[in-house]
Amino acid sequence: MDRRLQLFLLLSVSSAAAVPLSKAASGQRNRLLLISFDGFRWDYDQDVDTPHLDQLGKDGVRAKYITPPMLTMTSPSHFTTVSGRWVEDHEVVHNMMFDAKTNLKVPHRQTLTRSEWWDNGVLPLWITAQNQGLKTGSFYFPGGAANYSGQAVNRVVVEETRPANETEWKQNIDTVLSWFSEEDFHLVTLYFGEPDRVGHAKGPDHPDRKSMIRQIDRTIGYLREAIDRQHLSDSLNVILTSDHGMTTVKKRPQVEEIVLNKYLNLIQLASFEILDYGGFGILTPRPGREQDVFDALSKAPNLTVYKKNEFPENFHLAKSERLPSIVVVADLGFNLNSRLIVYVNKGDHGFHNGEMDMKTIFWALGPDFKKNFLSEPFDSIHIYPLMCKVLQIEPAPHNGSLSVTEKLLLHGGSQRNGVSVGLLLTLLCSLSRL
Ligand SMILES: [Zn+2]
Repeated sequence: MDRRLQLFLLLSVSSAAAVPLSKAASGQRNRLLLISFDGFRWDYDQDVDTPHLDQLGKDGVRAKYITPPMLTMTSPSHFTTVSGRWVEDHEVVHNMMFDAKTNLKVPHRQTLTRSEWWDNGVLPLWITAQNQGLKTGSFYFPGGAANYSGQAVNRVVVEETRPANETEWKQNIDTVLSWFSEEDFHLVTLYFGEPDRVGHAKGPDHPDRKSMIRQIDRTIGYLREAIDRQHLSDSLNVILTSDHGMTTVKKRPQVEEIVLNKYLNLIQLASFEILDYGGFGILTPRPGREQDVFDALSKAPNLTVYKKNEFPENFHLAKSERLPSIVVVADLGFNLNSRLIVYVNKGDHGFHNGEMDMKTIFWALGPDFKKNFLSEPFDSIHIYPLMCKVLQIEPAPHNGSLSVTEKLLLHGGSQRNGVSVGLLLTLLCSLSRL
């Protein structure tokens, strides 16, 4: 082969590979901040003035909406986002740790630090990134406070019981940005408990929900100023997403609410249950009574009862060993009450992920993302391979697909360098044989 051609091809190969390799080698790998605002329904910005979120869409990418996994609950959905695994695989099947055999139920907040609930052999992004030499942190993020195969996230701040106010939100942003700018962190996940709280307490149509969206919008404005102030805009990618939507709870006199004990004697027929928790419920029938429970609940209006092994495939729940044998999903807006109707929540979630009210948000901004790009909807499970791509790490086995989300990236994402290097090497080898 012509020496000049050989030299040219070699130079082409090294220049094609130069960008990501040299960045990684010199510690200039782009970083990633993953932000979740809990319970941010996909359309919450459409009836409120949100200049900063609008600007985010112009300077970066936005999806029309994204679909969370079944179950549309906080811990299951967040863990799918950070692992790229369906709920049946990661087994974080509820916000509350439970054991149907011993009747154990651990409240949500305490469950956040119970590794035995979170660690079921699936490694979340923090740990996979750390195992490849990256430095990671979690600020309030669900799952961040657990250990996985004995490994903890490099730095963890666990959410306090008292909800943070707007001033503290800004302080939290300053804190995580300083981890990037002063301590060379590569990945930080940051969680906010709103607008979920206000959505539950007041309902998604209440003026207080709208003012919370304005507060979130101001916070995004603050985030962008702070990124500039800390000189991170050229190296920091930001993904802004959420775990599920919210819908108005239907109440009398508009509807007859669901009370499951009207259709079956819960004490007699079930040995374990988690009901009274939004639109999703679980039951363990007493031995030999599964069909009785199924038949009785099948007669109840406004809900669907599933035997675990007969779940629709797109629920991705059937393989779960933790879920008891009967799962109930209420029609949109109908809460699953066991014996009494407790009038606490005006809004709720946990309903079918095909319902538009359960859809949620996705924005992204930074050096690796396109500008002013509106994406078609996608499933939240595909965020994981996108994050791995942005961080230039090898993903753990997952159920997502980069081909769904790489179109959000500049240069078409992953294939650019990998394929061109591979093709050039093949070409070089075949030419050498000539
Ligand atoms: Zn949530």
